[in-house]
Amino acid sequence: MRIVVLAGGIGGARFLRGVKAAVPDAEITVIGNTGDDIHLFGLKVCPDLDTVMYTLGGGIDEDKGWGRTGETFRVKEELAAYGVGPEWFGLGDRDFATHIVRTQMLGAGYPLSAVTEALCDRWRPGVRLIPMTDDRVETHVAIEEDGEQRAVHFQEYWVRLRASVPAHAVVPVGADQAKPAPGVLEAIADADVVLFPPSNPVVSIGTILAVPGIREAIADAGVPVVGLSPIVGDAPVRGMADKVLAAVGVEATAAAVAQHYGSGLLDGWLVDTVDAGSVAGVEAAGIRCRAVPLMMTDADATAAMAREALALAEEVRA
Ligand code: GDP
Ligand code: CA
Repeated sequence: MRIVVLAGGIGGARFLRGVKAAVPDAEITVIGNTGDDIHLFGLKVCPDLDTVMYTLGGGIDEDKGWGRTGETFRVKEELAAYGVGPEWFGLGDRDFATHIVRTQMLGAGYPLSAVTEALCDRWRPGVRLIPMTDDRVETHVAIEEDGEQRAVHFQEYWVRLRASVPAHAVVPVGADQAKPAPGVLEAIADADVVLFPPSNPVVSIGTILAVPGIREAIADAGVPVVGLSPIVGDAPVRGMADKVLAAVGVEATAAAVAQHYGSGLLDGWLVDTVDAGSVAGVEAAGIRCRAVPLMMTDADATAAMAREALALAEEVRA
């Protein structure tokens, strides 16, 4: 079976472990969000690609959900001693090596997709990980700080400001000019099923869908498209997805997120059992919906979620 999964960071990566466990012989292609990418200390950092790569490759810090296990922060401390920031972004010593290799390869002329493949040669994530695009896309958030409107990089909004101020708009800068990376449209066209993990619907999956051609390819592929809600009990399970949902005028409910994707894109939607009351409304909007446990508390629970998603895909297909 060929499975295509659109993924952000933590939610996407953890769900992918469940997909691998549920269907060990599946050919899984992951289309990764690169809107979170940022240049720091002269280095190109791709947080979501790395979270997927480290999580599936066994190098992730399990407690934090991002960064390397057993990490130290000597380089960051030394940079701070020179007064060189930003201090709000945690880059560990081990992690630095990834960004150095990536930046060196990009500088030598390799596209990000080729660089990602090279990095995955070491990590062997067991999936084919492709960035959504080789072109530069940067998610910016329009905020009001000290009475002034300004746009900040998504990482500044998320990590420095902890999404503590309202977001007025979320803009994937450069997306409209970006082309899907080599292999993205082909993987979608060849897929048996497309899954949207419980990733952020605005700044992870929304950004991937903003690359011209990707949304259309998924809608036209003629295969089941099934998503899992990152919103459980009217709140994000972790993180601040409610803040960016508000910026695009979408309520932080499992049902509203399904309708935001829409029946033109989504065939099936899983909500958590606590949101069982929203199933009828989602189905009325033309999206097949089931309520099942959606908390990725351990490997078994996560694999069960993947199985439910694939079962719903089969139901939709039939
Ligand atoms: P990020 O790039 O690291 O923010 O990660 P993603 O965009 O892939 O995923 C973030 C989303 O995952 C958040 O909106 C969370 O609500 C959601 N999430 C995290 N853990 C779980 C879980 O166990 N169950 C569900 N349903 N959603 C989760
Ligand atoms: Ca992210």
